[in-house]
Amino acid sequence: MKRILATLASVAALGLSAFPAGAQNYPERAISIVVPFSAGGPTDTVTRLIAEPMAKSLGAEIVVQNVTGAGGTVAAGQVAKAEPDGYTILMHHIGMSTAPTLYKNLPYKPLEDFAAIGLVTEVPMTIIGRKDLAPATLQELIDYVKTNKDKVTYANAGIGAASHLCGMLFMEAVGTQVTTVPYKGTGPALTDLVGGQVDFMCDQTTNTTGQIKSGQVKAYAVTTGERLASLPDLPTTKEGGLDMQVSVWHALYAPAGTPEDVVKKLSTALQSALKDQKVIDRFAELGTTPVAQDRATPAAHTEMLASQIKLWKPIIEAAGVAAQ
Ligand code: ASP
Repeated sequence: MKRILATLASVAALGLSAFPAGAQNYPERAISIVVPFSAGGPTDTVTRLIAEPMAKSLGAEIVVQNVTGAGGTVAAGQVAKAEPDGYTILMHHIGMSTAPTLYKNLPYKPLEDFAAIGLVTEVPMTIIGRKDLAPATLQELIDYVKTNKDKVTYANAGIGAASHLCGMLFMEAVGTQVTTVPYKGTGPALTDLVGGQVDFMCDQTTNTTGQIKSGQVKAYAVTTGERLASLPDLPTTKEGGLDMQVSVWHALYAPAGTPEDVVKKLSTALQSALKDQKVIDRFAELGTTPVAQDRATPAAHTEMLASQIKLWKPIIEAAGVAAQ
């Protein structure tokens, strides 16, 4: 004990702190934000939009890295094991809360292996089809899917993706299973939908708004309780007679063990990015809004993650969906 005190005293005398090296001067080099899906998709879009103002307020470069595979779990597993120094962080979405139930051998524990930084946004989803798909309304789509279940294809970004969850809820509500086609993200899935290679999908408005507005895809419904100002003509799932709702919450994570003051600097930078007028305006064009400032915090984020894990568990178990 005496020796520890003596060491602390000498550290203090030298004007150094007992905190891990670099924490006070953080950041001193570029920070990587790992995105678990393809470049150009909705998770990537949200990340790149906030990365610029975050970099400005942190005074360091932010590099966005796309690490794809297994519905986002490859990237999350990689960041869980990264050095907990604040230089490798993760943007993930609702998939962080569904993966523990979906995956039997998930290589990380969402609540234990990460330090929550804060929530970012909750993005509505849209149910869309290739532009020459026969049904014109959601009710017609439901009937079409039931009648053609052996030939209809549904695109998603793998088990654990939001598009997977939305498709699972759709098929449960309709009472019909169709063939799913997995992609590394809904960026490439949407490209194939526009090209007519798959029939329908469900994806965040941050990816689909442009194609809906330009008529490159057919839009059937938005998955929220209210219509969106950005797509006012699109009915809600409820209006279309479908009993399902989902929106995709996104959040930033550091590996567990990241110094608290580093996490705090990242949260503060996130909060200031969410107040940036360019971010607010672009989010609005894409059908979403930044979360309130008090939700872009570790406490609110942890609470959301815990409650969402609880919420989705019985729903996924009832649907009987599982991956290795
Ligand atoms: N929207 C995708 C999902 O289904 C992910 C992405 O490509 O960003 O989770």
